[in-house]
Amino acid sequence: MTFDAEQFKENLTARLRRQYGKDITQANKHDLFDAVSASALEIIMPNWMNTRKEYEAKPTKQLYYLSAEFLMGRALGNNLINSGIMEQVKDVLKDMNISYDFIEDEEPDAGLGNGGLGRLAACFLDSLATLEYPGHGYGIRYEYGMFEQHIINGEQVEFPDNWLKHRDPWEVKRSDLAVTVKFGGQIKYGKTPDGQDRFYLENAEEITATPYDMPIVAYGSNTVNTLRLWQASSPNGFDLQLFNDMQYHRAVERQNDAENISRVLYPNDNGPMGKELRLRQQYFFTSASLQDLVHHFVNTYGADFSKFPEYHVIQLNDTHPVVAIPELMRILIDEYNVGWDDAWSVVQKTFAYTNHTILSEALEKWTIEVFQKLLPRIYQIVEEINRRFVIELRQQFPNDYEKQNHMAIIHDGKVYMAWLAIHAGFSVNGVAALHTKILKEQELKDWYKIYPEKFNNKTNGVTQRRWLLFANPELSDFITKRIGHGWEKELSLLKGLEKYVDDDASLEELIAIKRHNKEKLAEYLKHSQNEFLDPESIFDTQVKRLHEYKRQLLNVFHIMYLYNKIVEDPSYNPPARTFIFGAKAASGYRRAKAIIKLINTVAERVNNDRRVRGKLRVVFVENYRVSVAEKIIPASDVSEQISTAGFEASGTSNMKFMMNGALTIGTLDGANIEIVEEAGEDNAFIFGLKADEIVKMKQEHSYNPTKYLDRNPSLAKVVNQLVDGTYDPSGLLFKEIHDSIVYGVEGQQPDVYFILADFDSYVKAHEKLAAEYADKKAWARKTLINIANSGKFSSDRTIEDYVKDIWHLKKVAVK
Ligand SMILES: *Cc1c(COP(=O)(O)O)cnc(C)c1O
Repeated sequence: MTFDAEQFKENLTARLRRQYGKDITQANKHDLFDAVSASALEIIMPNWMNTRKEYEAKPTKQLYYLSAEFLMGRALGNNLINSGIMEQVKDVLKDMNISYDFIEDEEPDAGLGNGGLGRLAACFLDSLATLEYPGHGYGIRYEYGMFEQHIINGEQVEFPDNWLKHRDPWEVKRSDLAVTVKFGGQIKYGKTPDGQDRFYLENAEEITATPYDMPIVAYGSNTVNTLRLWQASSPNGFDLQLFNDMQYHRAVERQNDAENISRVLYPNDNGPMGKELRLRQQYFFTSASLQDLVHHFVNTYGADFSKFPEYHVIQLNDTHPVVAIPELMRILIDEYNVGWDDAWSVVQKTFAYTNHTILSEALEKWTIEVFQKLLPRIYQIVEEINRRFVIELRQQFPNDYEKQNHMAIIHDGKVYMAWLAIHAGFSVNGVAALHTKILKEQELKDWYKIYPEKFNNKTNGVTQRRWLLFANPELSDFITKRIGHGWEKELSLLKGLEKYVDDDASLEELIAIKRHNKEKLAEYLKHSQNEFLDPESIFDTQVKRLHEYKRQLLNVFHIMYLYNKIVEDPSYNPPARTFIFGAKAASGYRRAKAIIKLINTVAERVNNDRRVRGKLRVVFVENYRVSVAEKIIPASDVSEQISTAGFEASGTSNMKFMMNGALTIGTLDGANIEIVEEAGEDNAFIFGLKADEIVKMKQEHSYNPTKYLDRNPSLAKVVNQLVDGTYDPSGLLFKEIHDSIVYGVEGQQPDVYFILADFDSYVKAHEKLAAEYADKKAWARKTLINIANSGKFSSDRTIEDYVKDIWHLKKVAVK
């Protein structure tokens, strides 16, 4: 991109003048952030326009990634790096006596996602653009993203994330492309001019969907793709009649109801949502997106929909957007008179589905009651899809009524969204090798039997532009100094670093870089939450959503165990350790919140006990999010990836840590398996039961957690400390956690996630780790081997896999 420093200055001052009525001396941090972003967008804009023109001029297949979540984080730094103008902008700012770092922290995260699934969507967009593929995102412009987490008295308290309080300088509102989405109403039949039956809705509630576009800037090429997010509003505004009658609340009721659809992201990760508003959100953004695509298709190519799949492939990110399938049927049949079979054939060639979890509580299903009332015509279409499918099922499994019922898209009073996706689409993929294997052999085995050709694996990845080049500039320079540029777009080149694993100078430098990143994190946490971290200690980090299957509790038990051990035996002198946590819990997930309280309670105790000072410290980082991950991950020595084997579909933070030179302590779960395959068993700390052992114990009901308490007194002591007054005088705060492990509560088995079974081997893995850390050189060597072998985990590789096996896109170079 061409950069004209004078022009940039001029744009910047013009923006300050026009937008804020200020000159550079009067502008505050926020004004400057806004003006710098707007000026950067000015530079990016010609490429964005050219990209769109290029795609129009050379009709080719485009990918649309439909996702209820895009966890984008901040845009400024990423866009400056990707467009190659970071250094120039910094220089201009320096010229004007402004420090770039000073304004960067002003940008709120676009936190339009919960965790891994939403961040994956964001990494995919970055890779698609960088690899010059025509691929775009469609989602919801939530007015409030992921809640802001405060820790008050050790407990999570949620505050609204008002990220749009100031205008977002990166978005472009496209009112000209607004569409209408209909809810409720009654189905009516009419005749088309040529005498065919036609369905339409009467008395439906109409909602306006307005798109806001965000640029997705390629690294090192001119491509700028689009993330299109829909905002909901009422087409009628407020009711003037009611207002004039002084019925002020009722006058704006409709407007508020409409706007509520895109008001707030549901803060559930891998959990049940089941709320009608959630289904409203799903239909709202998928209907708007499909209308957008179909309008554009008809305007460009006419109404021969048999060509639709030649130009569109739609990836459904989990079941959240699956209602897009009957919606495309509806648009084709009701609005364009396409016959059922032709419409079905278009649908079958257009949709592909990604499964992200085997947790049954996360597989979405809607009661017929809710579904039919909200989307009567869509329900009717799903019923017809189901009716035809059940006929096939009877032929497939003639005498197996149980199976016929269970696999039906509608059964037991509910609509099963995953079943709809698997039946209608042409591809079903898991997100790591083990996960896909479990889908084929266990969770979806009946489906694999009837549709083996649809199943495939696409191991997740992360973009090295954000997670290495941007987040860890010193390590990036270290890499470039040794292997040159190129790794930014081809991460497998990192393999070239293996030459240096026995080079003392390189290892020393690596140690110094990690040390400096640790100092920077310590500095940040001192200012942000008055926490004091010792950069000399091992930074041992577990950052991810709080969920029982992720087993933050196992980590805490280990810390409680270490604390006891140090207190009981003053001669025990382990290396100094800082355990860092960051995690948000879904607002209604009581046990997850209790675990947050436990972590903070243990932290309070440990950090204030002189007997363990200098040996043990626990830090809970408030409000974990992308911009905080960018600071924590480069500063970590140890990456905690300790989910119960078989439960974490892939994980992606494990990959971010690996490429930033943290060593993994983890179970053989999700992508950890592939990480260890790449890095070698000796360069990670693997422990615990394997997925097949867990399955076996569950099937045979052979797991007896109390056995582990009887065998291991120090573990029994830790578990008992949850209720014996050590951490909470009342003994009640953590009783539910205690009972869930020891007895099982609410009809659950005790210790559902096998914490006690894995405790011993986890402790041993930590002991090995602590011993090995003492040899700084040997440790650094292992980190370098990890970095050198992290190439597979670039989302560029993942995207190339999707392109080859599912999407079949061609690159489009933008001039
Ligand atoms: C990468 C990322 C995640 C996913 O973490 P996992 O450990 O893979 O669950 C969640 N939240 C944020 C902010 C992330 O950057």
